[in-house]
This record gives sequence, structure tokens and C-alpha cells, in this order.
Amino acid sequence: MTGQEIAQLLSEHIDERFIHPDQPMAEYTSFRTGGSALCVVEVHDLEELRRVLTCVRKKFLPYSILGNGTNTLVEDEGYSGVAIILDGEFKKIDVTGYEVTCGGGASLAAAGRMAADMWLTGMEWACGIPGTIGGAIRMNAGAFGSDMSKIVKRVRALTTAGEEIVLRPAELHFKYRHSLFCEKKYVVLEAVFELQKGDKNEINSRIEDYAKERRDKQPLDLPSAGCIFKNPREGSAAQMIDEAGLGGSYVGGAMVSKKHCNFIVNTGKATATDITRLIENVRREVYNFNGVRLEPELCVLGRPGRY
Ligand SMILES: Cc1cc2nc3c(=O)[nH]c(=O)nc-3n(C[C@H](O)[C@H](O)[C@H](O)COP(=O)(O)OP(=O)(O)OC[C@H]3O[C@@H](n4cnc5c(N)ncnc54)[C@H](O)[C@@H]3O)c2cc1C
Repeated sequence: MTGQEIAQLLSEHIDERFIHPDQPMAEYTSFRTGGSALCVVEVHDLEELRRVLTCVRKKFLPYSILGNGTNTLVEDEGYSGVAIILDGEFKKIDVTGYEVTCGGGASLAAAGRMAADMWLTGMEWACGIPGTIGGAIRMNAGAFGSDMSKIVKRVRALTTAGEEIVLRPAELHFKYRHSLFCEKKYVVLEAVFELQKGDKNEINSRIEDYAKERRDKQPLDLPSAGCIFKNPREGSAAQMIDEAGLGGSYVGGAMVSKKHCNFIVNTGKATATDITRLIENVRREVYNFNGVRLEPELCVLGRPGRY
């Protein structure tokens, strides 16, 4: 099916203002490169999400929930599927007592800052992560010694069978940069975090310290997807890449940052192929250097059958 045909089909179920056929995904991903998705669609509540999912599944179209695209690379050939963005109700953040309730499309950083405003501690580490709640739950995003698994109380999700379920921490299969949502194509609709009462000045100063550390150590001036590789059991991926002498190495417009060797940056005109080739080079060279196989944490969207 073409993007226009999918858009036509979806327009029977959802306002056409929210349907965007043949969208260049550079605009939706922090790497700022990659091909087009056949269609991008924004849904504003559970009812709209259900309608879109029913429609794409009936036609056996590939689909993926897209958060802020800060851990996603779209192949140059494009994504032959529907990228679904959780907007409207899914962006809500609410603080009640010690609980922060966030929609799956809400900003993780905004949730952390709202918690800080309410004198709640436990999310300071999350304020510099540019993703959504859904993306962060799926990846079990983390920083500065913490991660989502440490604060999640429950997650409301939509199963592939269309059932709405509530999952407790033990059911979420959290591991390092892994959750149940890597195993099953469920949608994170909402997450509830349990935090503690803290001192507002101390919370804000921790947020500022973490932000400074990021500015000092990460190449935040260039497009990237944060750390490309998971840290292996043997130690720090960044250190291994550095020790293998790969800082500054490049393919086309993609370069291993010298400032933080686990970041690949788009120096201006990187294609998705440049980035994937550089990832493969780094994996091969690090393996040749110390025998460790680095695993990418990046999600790739592309042609059917590949991902
Ligand atoms: C400058 C920079 C710094 C970063 N620092 C960190 C860091 O310190 N720690 C860290 O862990 N990560 C970091 N990241 C990576 C990234 O921000 C996180 O992985 C983030 O959690 C991804 O969220 P997203 O909304 O952008 O996800 P996307 O890239 O949009 O999606 C990632 C995956 O999650 C899935 N997904 C998204 N929403 C949902 C949903 N509602 N339900 C089910 N699945 C969903 C997508 O289908 C995809 O498979 C950084 C990235 C950048 C660019």
C-alpha cells in the first residue's frame, strides 16, 4: 500500500488533520536523518488508538509507537509502516501525594521537573533524558545510578489483543535497558511513579549538577540518539571504544564523538547508512581489540522483515 492509500484508509477512523502520509522521519528523530515513514498518525486518546490499531492490523500493516524518536533510527529506504504518536490525553502529567501519573506520550523530563516542583525526589536523574514515558519504560531508561525500574509503581498497557491491563513491577521484566515491552508489542498507555518527599532546593541542585555533568561530558550540540551501545558486563562501552582508539572515527557524516565515545553524532549530512556502518565498524574493532561484543541499544525502523 502507498502512504496515500493508508492515509485514505485511516481517514475513515480518525480526523485527517492527524494523518501524515510519506513523512520524512528526520523531523521525528533526534538523529535528524533517515527515510520517510509511509504514514505518521497522531492519536489523542485510547479510543483513537484502538481504532488506528484495529485498522492497521486488519491490513497487516507494520506499525510502531513513536515517542520522541530519541532512541530510534529510520533506515534511508524508509519505514514501510505506520508510526503512531501518542498525543493529547497521553501527554498528561499529574502529581497526587507521592505519586506522579504520566501518559505514555508525556515528556520524561517534564515529569521529573514537575515532581521537583512538588518537592518530590527520585526523578532528578530523568530530567536530562529527552524521551517520552513510553519510550523510557520500554528501554528502562536510566542515568546516574538509577533507572525506571526503581520508581515505577504500575503501568497501564494495551495488549496486542486490545485488552487494557495494569502491570505491577514484577510483571514488567525490567532489566538493564530492557522491559516486557521489548518482548511484547504492548503499548504503554500510562505509568505511575512512586517518589519520596524531599527538599526542593536539594532536588533542584541535583538536577542542575546532573545537567552540568551532561553538558561537560556529552556532545549535546550535535544530533545523536544518546548512548549507542549498552554497557557490557565487562565495563563501560564508552571506555572500550576510547581504548580501541575509535574516538573521532567516522563514516560519511556520522562520527564517534571524541567527547563521549559511546555517542555517534550526525555532523551535518549523515545518512542512516553512515550511522549503521559506523556502528558495525565500532562493534568489529572493539571485538578485535578486547573480545567484547557490544550490543546496540538503538531501535531501528526499516523495511518489512528486517526489524
Ligand atoms: C542527548 C541524549 C541523551 C540521552 N540520555 C539517555 C540517558 O541518560 N539514559 C537513557 O537510558 N537513555 C538516554 N537517551 C536515549 C533515549 O532518550 C531514551 O532511550 C528514551 O527513553 C527514549 O524515549 P523516546 O520517547 O524518544 O523513544 P523512541 O526513540 O521514540 O522509541 C524507543 C522505543 O520505545 C518504543 N515506544 C515508545 N513509546 C512507546 C509506548 N508508549 N509504548 C510502547 N513502546 C513505546 C518505540 O516503539 C521504540 O521501540 C538519550 C538520548 C539522547 C538523544
